[in-house]
Amino acid sequence: MQDDKNAQGVFRVNAKPRGRQFFQNPGPTNIPDRVLRAMDRAVLDFLSEEFLAIHRACHAGVKRVLKTQQQLFMYAASGHGAWEAALSNVLSPGDRVLMLESGYFSDSWTQMANHLGLQVETVPAEWRHGVGLDAVIEKLTADAAHAIKAVLVVHNETATGLTLSVPEVRRAIDEARHPALLFVDTISSLGCMDFRMDAWGVDIAVGGSQKGLMLPTGMSFTGVSAKAVAASAEGKTRRHYWDWREMGGRDPQRFLGTTPVHLFFGLEEALKLLDEEGLDAVFARHHRLAAATRAAVVHWGGNARSNVKADAKGISKGVKAIELFCADDARLSNSVTAVMLPEGHDADAVRRTALNRFNLSLGGGLGTLGGRVFRIGHMGDLNEPMLLGALATVELTFKTCGVPHQAGGVEAAIQALAAN
Ligand code: PLP
Repeated sequence: MQDDKNAQGVFRVNAKPRGRQFFQNPGPTNIPDRVLRAMDRAVLDFLSEEFLAIHRACHAGVKRVLKTQQQLFMYAASGHGAWEAALSNVLSPGDRVLMLESGYFSDSWTQMANHLGLQVETVPAEWRHGVGLDAVIEKLTADAAHAIKAVLVVHNETATGLTLSVPEVRRAIDEARHPALLFVDTISSLGCMDFRMDAWGVDIAVGGSQKGLMLPTGMSFTGVSAKAVAASAEGKTRRHYWDWREMGGRDPQRFLGTTPVHLFFGLEEALKLLDEEGLDAVFARHHRLAAATRAAVVHWGGNARSNVKADAKGISKGVKAIELFCADDARLSNSVTAVMLPEGHDADAVRRTALNRFNLSLGGGLGTLGGRVFRIGHMGDLNEPMLLGALATVELTFKTCGVPHQAGGVEAAIQALAAN
């Protein structure tokens, strides 16, 4: 196109790139065409029988994905809304809660809890490894008076690409013989990795629409155990929009306002997609694509493994080559990979070049990881060709930006996919 060239006929870097954008953000994620088409329809009265049938089916479908037979409350809000619903329904100002630090999102949830008047005690973690569960047992055992009302954990820390084992957290609580409720943020794990609310003894599971459920942002929900429902009768935090007492007791559970019917049209179709593929196959696909992504990253860095640490202050010095941010192999996330760049190289410049020149959208480093890390989302509606295209483009971007790397990361990803 004429517009794309300067007077000398050279391609202009800032021209809008052509072709379909490759979208590798860790939320929102790609919305499948079938979901988009399902939402492209006329509105329905949210109290009509026609819509209520869809509403009920979606309610049951989300419970199937959460693997719970207990209660579900849905909100017209992003994940922050469900976070607030979880805290405000069962806890009272002054209550103590134990947050397992994982990174940007555990910090943000902590901030919210503080604003709601809760006393947050943190089990600190070095972000590349996550918390040690012995420290959780220690904290809970020390609380002989059982003043801690809830343990809060982010199942998959989207900012760092680290997954904590929820059954292990459950075991730590049980080992300490502590009655605290277990709150789990499954926002970037649900529909990507196995999650079993009831079998794992989770009291409140917080989920959102725009990640593994492949929907637009704007719907979130909490799975709630019978124990948490009972606790909510005592909760003294002021609440209105999130109040389960206002929302409950109906079939299906009501929204305290207009039900977002188009999100339900999309959700109905997204649940069909998950059912057709089968949840186990969905998880296996996420595992395969994550392993391929990691193979590429490790190859680019020539298998570099430093002892560099990271926490809320940022990444300490000494990163010499490209590396996986998550340094614990047993905790590598299957939905997002955070990539650390060698010191002196700007991860945001890499992202800008990937986007502006090649139409590849990547996630940025959040908070103190800004500029040092970029993130490759591999969750939701994604397959091998999409991922390989994205990884090839990341490698092209490294070349373009002069980021030192060992060429051949895509071949390493292909080998990993072929082996799986
Ligand atoms: N928790 C996690 C793990 C997340 O990844 C996010 C968003 O990316 C949130 C909470 C906040 O959700 P939202 O942005 O939908 O409010």
